[in-house]
Amino acid sequence: MPNMSMFKNEMPTQEPNVRNKNFLEVALGYNKEQAIDEAKRCLNCKSKNCVSGCPVQIDIPAFISEVIKSDFEKAYEIISDASSLPAVCGRVCPQESQCEGKCVRGIKGEPVGIGRLERFVADYHNSNCKNMINSIKPNQNGHKVAVIGSGPSGLTCAGDLAKKGYEVTVFEALHLAGGVLVYGIPEFRLPKAIVQKEIDGLRAMGVKIETNMVIGKVLSIDELIEEYNFEAVFIGSGAGLPKFMNIPGENLKGVYSANEYLTRVNLMKAYTENTTTPVKKSRRVAVIGGGNVAMDAARCAKRLGAEEVYIIYRRSEEELPARKEEVEHAKEEGIIFKFLTNPVEILSDENGFAGSIQCLEMELTEPDESGRRKPVEKEESAFCIPVDTVIMSIGTSPNPLIRSSTKGLETQKWGGIIINEKTGLTSREGIYAGGDAVTGAATVILAMGAGKTAARAIDAYISPFIR
Ligand code: FAD
Ligand code: SF4
Repeated sequence: MPNMSMFKNEMPTQEPNVRNKNFLEVALGYNKEQAIDEAKRCLNCKSKNCVSGCPVQIDIPAFISEVIKSDFEKAYEIISDASSLPAVCGRVCPQESQCEGKCVRGIKGEPVGIGRLERFVADYHNSNCKNMINSIKPNQNGHKVAVIGSGPSGLTCAGDLAKKGYEVTVFEALHLAGGVLVYGIPEFRLPKAIVQKEIDGLRAMGVKIETNMVIGKVLSIDELIEEYNFEAVFIGSGAGLPKFMNIPGENLKGVYSANEYLTRVNLMKAYTENTTTPVKKSRRVAVIGGGNVAMDAARCAKRLGAEEVYIIYRRSEEELPARKEEVEHAKEEGIIFKFLTNPVEILSDENGFAGSIQCLEMELTEPDESGRRKPVEKEESAFCIPVDTVIMSIGTSPNPLIRSSTKGLETQKWGGIIINEKTGLTSREGIYAGGDAVTGAATVILAMGAGKTAARAIDAYISPFIR
């Protein structure tokens, strides 16, 4: 019998007033009974609307049917056919605008909790299955591919090629692999042990990961091809260069880019006692921006002990680009939202630190080129918020290092690498690219999809030479 409840089974979570003081995972995950009950809300529609909303086309009704039968391992196999990071995607994908956004149960009531079910299945597999699908080492075919960057696009491309027998080496600039999954998204949303497990699985398949290798400085892509005999290269170097507003006061002490702040907290564990890269002890923090990155920075600041944390966003709540669930969690944890507010200057205190932020009230007019209503300043609406820390989270772009060090690599004016969308091929033969390095800051699942597309194209490019 289908479960015709209008509402999803609630996700068990840590209490807001407890979790806003620790870095443990907020959402605790369904148990078997909750997962089966939620799976029974699925109508197994012939039209499979949900699948059309999934960027990697997971056969959603098929895996959900296996959950109903308690065959969680079969459900995992179905998801794994399309997605290489199910435990990650079940936690961080913007399902409301993808699969769940298309689910017919969402027409009258809440959609099926597809993301929560994906997470349940992946966690069940990770804690119960000894026979890891990923850990079977394929026979190598003797052909070498280099992957630049170990974020979701690079890891997916590396995994898909390793499964086909390629000798894959991932070159990562940082000392740890995982890209934004380890240095950006905080532990309380995505435990790092989960990312590590995926990386261990790739290593077990024979993928080599060389950390502390800044391509463009230590070695160039041309050297990888000409001197180290890599037959193809995938560039998945992300978009890690922070943007600033260019307002007065942005270079005061106590002003961070969200990237720096989150890297210190997540990668360098600034919340532990013996950290070598602490962040400033803050009482009042302003985070400028309204995306997932801004929510993560604000929630980290709260957990590090700040009494007041503001999200300052120039549009209204309706336009917030962050995932709905993250916004709700942030509100529950006590983050204060200042909508229709635009910072114009950061003022210093007597010691040269950020001391307050001068803002203007905004109102929304006609939609701009992005389709969103354009914010304009209200006259004589200036006001000041006392803060001691400001975190800029207004977007990122690709770092120029790769494009400036690779001959003939064509890029957009803003830095995104130009590719053929069907194959990921760049303007250079044998060099492919995908993920944020191509699109600018986007999502994990889109980066993974790009890694898959390029892996297929690289295989088609090299396989005629395999004897
Ligand atoms: P990245 O994950 O950025 O990985 C690129 C890697 O390349 C990095 O490890 C970098 O160190 C390395 N690299 C860069 N240059 C070089 C070089 N020259 N040589 C060698 N290595 C290099 N998306 C979601 O779907 N849901 C979310 O909830 C979400 N939250 C986010 C929160 C934060 C704080 C951030 C920053 C992003 C978030 N995103 C989210 C976006 C998502 O994480 C990215 O779209 C995704 O990680 C892009 O993957 P990628 O593989 O293209 O690049
Ligand atoms: Fe199930 Fe919703 Fe997909 Fe229909 S659209 S198959 S109800 S998840």
